[in-house]
Amino acid sequence: MDSCSAAITEIADGVFGLQFDLPLGVQPINVYLLAGDPLTLIDTGPILPGIPDALYRALDEVGYPVGTLGRIIVTHHHLDHMGLAAMLKEASGARVVCHRLGSEILGDYHAEQLRLRDYLVDLAPFVGLDPELARRSFFEPSAWDTAAEPVAVDETVEDGDIIRAGPRDLRVIHTPGHTIDHICLYDPEERLMFTGDMLLQSITPNPDLYPPWLSEKQSGLPDYIDSLHKIREFETGKALPGHGASIPDFEARIDDVLLHHEERLRFLRDDIVEEEKTVLQLAVVLLTHINMEMSPINVFLAMREVFGHLVILERTGEVTMELRDGTAYYRATSPPTA
Ligand SMILES: [Zn+2]
Repeated sequence: MDSCSAAITEIADGVFGLQFDLPLGVQPINVYLLAGDPLTLIDTGPILPGIPDALYRALDEVGYPVGTLGRIIVTHHHLDHMGLAAMLKEASGARVVCHRLGSEILGDYHAEQLRLRDYLVDLAPFVGLDPELARRSFFEPSAWDTAAEPVAVDETVEDGDIIRAGPRDLRVIHTPGHTIDHICLYDPEERLMFTGDMLLQSITPNPDLYPPWLSEKQSGLPDYIDSLHKIREFETGKALPGHGASIPDFEARIDDVLLHHEERLRFLRDDIVEEEKTVLQLAVVLLTHINMEMSPINVFLAMREVFGHLVILERTGEVTMELRDGTAYYRATSPPTA
């Protein structure tokens, strides 16, 4: 298989998984096609060289050319999940569906990205970073900037809504945290759970930093942990993620991820017993601890995760934060855990 063709799997009767390799070390993306009326695609893949053609060919191969698509459900507003939606809609007239909170972001995608970038640059002093350095390091132009087109959303859904796709009733489960608009889709008949980026087999999704115009909660990590508990209640035989391999044991994977975050909370808290640290300093400690390269993207993602954990630790009273000259310094309120 070359890098520009899809790996196709029939997961259940009339449910196809189409998997595409992505560049730059990102795990392969999965989109799912559900046969029936309306012919439904869950997520789209990004606009990167070779991907649109590979998707069109894969749709031909399973007997449902792009023109027959009736609906595109977007699990969340990240470009690898919605990038191609406008192109597919144009080719088919398919209706685009997402959670209410994602609708404006999808419709005004590029403006929203710029707005978010400015917000994150403004936030640099808070985490202990020079704003200009932040702009240069984290927001260099890249191929990903054009990997998504804005798309007009035709229908928004809420938690508990049912989307009928041919013979299936898909229940919408709002699972904020990785992004505020994230949804999982559950088919109770066949006990299939389409998890988007909410639950992945070999990596944990990065929690979002909610900008104030979307939420006052700052970090998505507390929501994410709540969302893990929420989806665990749904009896699931096959969990079908937005990236990488399918998840053989849904509940065990959720428990692993919950444990992972508990360990991270403890690790970070214990690191700031003796001396206070900024978000940036803690991100460096974390990357060193897990032996990861100190690349700009890794530092950025580590800061977002560390900040999420600090928000939780502040809430439980285990950590206090002091703001000095616009920079936040965190310190544990009691001795290390045994
Ligand atoms: Zn994502």
